[in-house]
Amino acid sequence: MTAHRRFREVRKLGPVQVATFFDGRGRDRHVAACTAPRCDFSGEYNNRSAAELAARTHRCSA
Ligand SMILES: [Zn+2]
Repeated sequence: MTAHRRFREVRKLGPVQVATFFDGRGRDRHVAACTAPRCDFSGEYNNRSAAELAARTHRCSA
């Protein structure tokens, strides 16, 4: 979590943002994070489709 992350391909699916970033060790990682104020849903995935699926199926509790 110390490395500066450069997100790209940021896209919003409902309240959840999905982005791709370079992990600094030669791999792309993908993150899905909910933007709702009281929802702390977020996750990291090895592939983009998993992140997008998580975003689409997220049921916001906020
Ligand atoms: Zn949420």
